[in-house]
Amino acid sequence: MAATGSQSLKCKVELHNHLDGALRAETVIDLARSKGIELPVDNARQFKEFVSCANETDRSLKKFLEPFAVFIPVISGDPHALRRCAIEFCEDQANQGVLYTEARYAPGLLTSGTSNNDATEGDKLTSEQVLLTIVDGLEEGCRRYGIKVKSILCCLRGCPDSATETIELCKKYHRKGVVGIDIEGNELEDSIKPGDEFCKAFQEAKRYGIHRTVHAGEAGTAENIRQSLDWLSAERIGHGYQLVEDESLLERVKKEQIHLEVCPTSSILTGSCSSFDNHPAKRLIISYLDPKLSPFVNYLSLLKLRHYFGSSTRFINEGLNFSINSDDSLCCNSGVADEYKLVYNKWGYGASVLTRATFNAARSSFLPEEEKQQLINDLEEIYGMKVIINYKATDIKLS
Ligand SMILES: [Zn+2]
Repeated sequence: MAATGSQSLKCKVELHNHLDGALRAETVIDLARSKGIELPVDNARQFKEFVSCANETDRSLKKFLEPFAVFIPVISGDPHALRRCAIEFCEDQANQGVLYTEARYAPGLLTSGTSNNDATEGDKLTSEQVLLTIVDGLEEGCRRYGIKVKSILCCLRGCPDSATETIELCKKYHRKGVVGIDIEGNELEDSIKPGDEFCKAFQEAKRYGIHRTVHAGEAGTAENIRQSLDWLSAERIGHGYQLVEDESLLERVKKEQIHLEVCPTSSILTGSCSSFDNHPAKRLIISYLDPKLSPFVNYLSLLKLRHYFGSSTRFINEGLNFSINSDDSLCCNSGVADEYKLVYNKWGYGASVLTRATFNAARSSFLPEEEKQQLINDLEEIYGMKVIINYKATDIKLS
């Protein structure tokens, strides 16, 4: 993704992006060709369409995840491919103006080597080798492109062994490139049970000071969010849109300042939300708006919101901690800069809301306290100098 205009300014923080869902289509095609792996399509444009489910009418999280099985074998078990993708991830994030980002992945999904579609050669790397290769690639990418990237390791729903392995890797590499633990997968099909391996892993993470986020309340229910807080001690929730269905839980999330990693395009493509206009996050973000902050911009936002929702503005002033994220840049065909534009243009939120989302992300990042404060200081300097003006003038067009 090429940098244009103020996109090259390093002013965003992205907390929710899957490294293996953010590969470059061109790289996947290139690697597949060199390995003799046959893909369903053979050019980057068609490949993006193939993985994005954009043309699907019957969307679901299960369908959204299906293409991963096609392209993950192209990079898995291959240290050169993994390192290349990690470096390219840093470049793509830097080109979108990202100052700090957390890349998440499940090392255990990236161990198997494949020479073609029919012949799996078995594990070529251990999960630990995958982790070390990616962390090394991210560090190289950070050096080259002047940004900061840390890793969140994902457990897989329905696979308790992944929880056991992931927490051990998190402990071993805590503050050596790894900052947090997550659970990914299909929350509709695989639930967490009290005291199971996932709960044990997350409580162990809490004891070790390892930060915790959980995919919940996207395709599943608000109850999954409650369980993530009660059983897994989650500090952040990936998605969390179903909060709109549970008033008391929403109150708790606001009171405890649980951070919501909002991923607008992804939730449409997974079928979790029906449209941008009816997106629950749009309503949730209203709850952030506080006219005391930046009165003029928020007054305009308020007028727009009243236009959208009539007198239904009861969420206003209730305060919510959220960020804007891409989730899977490749599969959504949308990077974080696109998501910011979308929130501005389709939801009508002003620069003050987007700026707050970035600062929310910084203060809810999993960086050690000292580095987090430095990140916030850097953002304050950048925003204080010129970014807000440039952002409004060139990066984002008024709807
Ligand atoms: Zn995700």
